[in-house]
Amino acid sequence: MMAPLPFKLVYHQRYDLNLGPHVFPSQKFRLIYELLLREGLASGQDFLQPNPASDEDILRVHTAGWVRKLKTGTLTASEVMLLEVPYSQELVEAVWLAAGGTILAAQSSLRDGLASNLSGGFHHAYPDHGEGFCAIHDVAVAIRKLQADGAIKKAMVVDTDVHHGNGTAGIFRNDPTVFTLSIHQLNNYPAHKPPSSVDLNMDDGVEDEEYLSALIPAVQHALDKFQPNILFYVSGADPYCEDQLGGLSLSKAGLKQRDRSVFEEARRRGISVATTLAGGYARRVEDTVQIHVNTILAASEVALAFPSASAARS
Ligand SMILES: [Zn+2]
Repeated sequence: MMAPLPFKLVYHQRYDLNLGPHVFPSQKFRLIYELLLREGLASGQDFLQPNPASDEDILRVHTAGWVRKLKTGTLTASEVMLLEVPYSQELVEAVWLAAGGTILAAQSSLRDGLASNLSGGFHHAYPDHGEGFCAIHDVAVAIRKLQADGAIKKAMVVDTDVHHGNGTAGIFRNDPTVFTLSIHQLNNYPAHKPPSSVDLNMDDGVEDEEYLSALIPAVQHALDKFQPNILFYVSGADPYCEDQLGGLSLSKAGLKQRDRSVFEEARRRGISVATTLAGGYARRVEDTVQIHVNTILAASEVALAFPSASAARS
């Protein structure tokens, strides 16, 4: 039997958002899970299965009105238009599970230094409405849950999805306990970008070197200055050069280097990292799946290079 991964992966077979033919490949969750097993990168013992987040957890971030509309299927036509995905009970179940999964990954990362939810990163969701394929802000729900439990005081969100983390920025705008960093293509969705703590605006077509030389020093500086108890990584496969909804030009190797660098900087400082997937719309779905799997590989390599978060400090 292969050695277990040095951290847990969180997955549920009902992560599928049930979108049918859609630019969001909602089968990617299952494909990532299957590729990890098929390539021998993980085995059954490496996985944790989440429960749906409780409504109490969801309601720390979202309004009672939005939760009720989701649960009863009473979104207005304009709310469905903003969400940009068809409404279904399966979608609601999947986003409650995704939030539960990000909570579980965060709790697990506090024990092991790292953990990955193979869903989540729904960073366009706002407290009272959804946007851009995102109905429930799983990362915000997890941050509020851990704070309510006294497990953490300060959290940092590093968002490298090609689209600005507008929901995250809006939710935590006046909150001194949460630092938000977004690196994204400036000329892209969403049109309105409320300010993050740090916004790194990339021009169209930016490649690996320019991107990494903007991101890494910013992450280093933010970690040193803010000293969070946990880092939530909203990874995003969509800065990839062949993405249909992105206009940056990163290679697969550049994206993996991005992931590895963020994990290394956190690990060196003894800060736990919980990762979520966020977007990915490559012409070939296999590319999106491989980029997400590479995030797990990068985490695994960093975990082995720095055997424990505390050891990394000494
Ligand atoms: Zn995106």
